[in-house]
Amino acid sequence: MKKLVVGISVLLVLACVGAGAYILRPQPQAATVMTVEVKGEVVDVKDGVMTVRTESGEEYRLVFAEGVKTEEEVGAEDKIAVTCACATDAAQPFPVTAVNSHVKPKLIEVKGLHGLVTAVEGSVVTLKEDTVLNREVKLDVSKVSNLPSGLAAEDELTVDARYWDNHPDVPWEAVAVMRIEKPAPPDPTDPEVVDDEKPNPNALQDGDVTPNGFQVRVINGITYIDGVLIANKTYRLPMSYNPGGLTKECKRAFEEMKAGAAEDGYTLKIVSGFRSFETQYVIYWRYVRNDGQKAADTYSARPGHSEHQTGLAMDLNSLKSAFGDTPEGKWLAAHCHEYGFIIRYPKGKSGITGYIYEPWHVRYVGVELATRLYESGLTLEEYFGIDSEYYEG
Ligand SMILES: [Zn+2]
Repeated sequence: MKKLVVGISVLLVLACVGAGAYILRPQPQAATVMTVEVKGEVVDVKDGVMTVRTESGEEYRLVFAEGVKTEEEVGAEDKIAVTCACATDAAQPFPVTAVNSHVKPKLIEVKGLHGLVTAVEGSVVTLKEDTVLNREVKLDVSKVSNLPSGLAAEDELTVDARYWDNHPDVPWEAVAVMRIEKPAPPDPTDPEVVDDEKPNPNALQDGDVTPNGFQVRVINGITYIDGVLIANKTYRLPMSYNPGGLTKECKRAFEEMKAGAAEDGYTLKIVSGFRSFETQYVIYWRYVRNDGQKAADTYSARPGHSEHQTGLAMDLNSLKSAFGDTPEGKWLAAHCHEYGFIIRYPKGKSGITGYIYEPWHVRYVGVELATRLYESGLTLEEYFGIDSEYYEG
């Protein structure tokens, strides 16, 4: 009898445990399948599984459904956007049902890239290229077999390199170093910076009136037309003219413009502001040495002729002609007059201003004149009726 009672108790206990276990067990859920678009960069493709990293850093493992794409067609670093059936509880790769866009990185090779080293940080070298646009290129030199030790800023470097066209942020990969020129030690016989340019007989003189009826004043060698300081290829500034930086009014106007741009969601930053006669002298003659005077004259001002010496001009954001087509460039062109600035060297006016299109270079002239120039589409030269041409006599 005792045995039987124990047996029943054990059975009861077992029944209870069983019932409890049954109640506690989660209900089996059906995997929810959603269709999502995954957009990002391919990290790798292995055994038919492609790993894609989105911009926010999430990684998706995807497998191509039959007939969509094959492993051979997609490679690491490709940019891809696919539609896939994404299961909420799946540990398996999601099947791709459609490829919406697919860009393969394009490898571009550059031979004889030449410029001035401006920084060396680990294996990344910043090179200021000696071209019209004078752009800065980041070079990864880690895989160069013939890299001499002691590469430093101020060196002139020539390399063969390659870069991924659709990956603007990835440093260019240096393939081989062709040449390094160390800066020459200071030569005591080097000529000093001098201001020996002959006066331009075509420049209007103090007391003259321009063909468009504006009064010319020349004070301490500086030409003002209708009160506006002029620096171009005809009119130059003396070496002694040095406001020490951007003028107060120009700086204040820029701060206001920067705030106005920020309100509209754009960032403006000064890339190059004031440059002294001496700085311009060094820059200009370096270009002449590397590129010849004829070429240098199309993109760099001779000392005394640079608007940067006025303290009223600055280069913004990017020294690329494509800057004019960016949202910031378009905003600048449409609004800078509201703050007293003009795009000094507009498109299609290089025969008049003497300089190539520079959507990044603005000059402060005050709101009233800037607005008049903006509305008329005239350059300073056209508005006043003056030239911008070097005197080669
Ligand atoms: Zn400039």
